[in-house]
Amino acid sequence: MYNFEYKNPVKIIFGKETISKVADEIPKDAKVLLTYGGGSIKRTGVYDQVKNALKDFNLVEFGGIEPNPHYETCMKAIELVKAEEIDFLLAVGGGSVVDATKFIAAGALYENGDPWDFMEKRGIVNVEKALPLGAVLTLPATGSEMNGNAVVTKMATQEKKAFGSPFVLPQFSILDPECVFTLPDKQVANGVVDAFVHVFEQYLTFDVNSPLQDRWAEGILTTLIEEGPKVLSDRKDYQAAANFMWSATMALNGIIAVGVPQDWATHMIGHELTAYHGIDHARTLAIVLPGMMHIKRHNKKDKILQYGERIWGINAGTDDERIDAAIAKTVDFFESVGISTKLPDYDVPVDTIAKITSRFEKSGIKLGEKGDIDFKEVEEILKDRL
Ligand code: NAP
Ligand code: FE
Repeated sequence: MYNFEYKNPVKIIFGKETISKVADEIPKDAKVLLTYGGGSIKRTGVYDQVKNALKDFNLVEFGGIEPNPHYETCMKAIELVKAEEIDFLLAVGGGSVVDATKFIAAGALYENGDPWDFMEKRGIVNVEKALPLGAVLTLPATGSEMNGNAVVTKMATQEKKAFGSPFVLPQFSILDPECVFTLPDKQVANGVVDAFVHVFEQYLTFDVNSPLQDRWAEGILTTLIEEGPKVLSDRKDYQAAANFMWSATMALNGIIAVGVPQDWATHMIGHELTAYHGIDHARTLAIVLPGMMHIKRHNKKDKILQYGERIWGINAGTDDERIDAAIAKTVDFFESVGISTKLPDYDVPVDTIAKITSRFEKSGIKLGEKGDIDFKEVEEILKDRL
């Protein structure tokens, strides 16, 4: 196991009828900006619950944050934060609203230029302060409610990029599994697959003798495989919703990442597919991951064999046959929740592969847990999905 330091201060308030507790978590004298998306919270009643809980607070609202939130929209919110002298941000929605709110929280206090620097000059420009924020999560998927990461898309240049900072960890996140009841099938499937691939990015690497992290990761994968279909077939199954919701949080709150290598290449390539074609985040991951497993089958051999055996009971055949079977089971699982894993199903023109490859070539970035996936392998991974 590698050395590590781990601190996660996010207070989680989990369970039925917990949204009203938001009032106890925000300082009474704060001027609060409530951020939300395209209006689902108004249709589901979450908005009313939050407004009711915060009726004695000084509240300003900013709605209209898109899925795969736009930098351009976040910049408008930053203007509002400054004009209204906001001192606490409350994100109510899915990962897009939470991510956008993190960017707004840090961007509002950034004085040295354009907050896009957090992405563009990642590693050189670091977030040094941010307004405090909290979240009422309505969609289990991203883990954003309990991590310090955010992904924002600049529409002007079709770039989707991430940044991370402990300053944007939420002060608290409220997770009421009943929010799952109103999700369309598509968003449940997206949530299951996004969480599944988050686990993969921290598990399907190489062995550093970390059996506990492996078993945590395998526990989350198994739970998603068991509970995801239950949620899809009965949206009012509270226990399934609760287990799905907690699995998605556990998949990306840092706990399974400690002491082990991390990959994230599937996410990096997937972001490009969203940037160019607006494909849902989880769907891009379902496309890329099988290609990643196939092209990196030698690097990742031991872990793919372990995954195949422990998760799917694959223990017969040669190594190559078992790896092929593990990839096939993964594809079948994604397809079984209604997510296609092939590029042509998303009407992606073939020249997109060249555009993405060229971006990686120009940036010189190498991906993966060994930093050995260059633009040529990115091309191979995407061509595998044609
Ligand atoms: P999302 O983009 O936040 O939401 C997807 C859709 O679901 C929206 O149309 C939203 O509607 C709707 N919705 C949300 N809650 C609902 C509910 N309870 N009932 C009915 N509809 C509901 O989806 P997401 O998958 O959570 O977030 C995706 C974003 O997170 C991507 O940009 C991705 O790159 C990023 N991401 C971040 C991390 C991280 O660590 N920070 C990790 C992975 C992915 P409204 O807009 O109307 O509310
Ligand atoms: Fe993700």
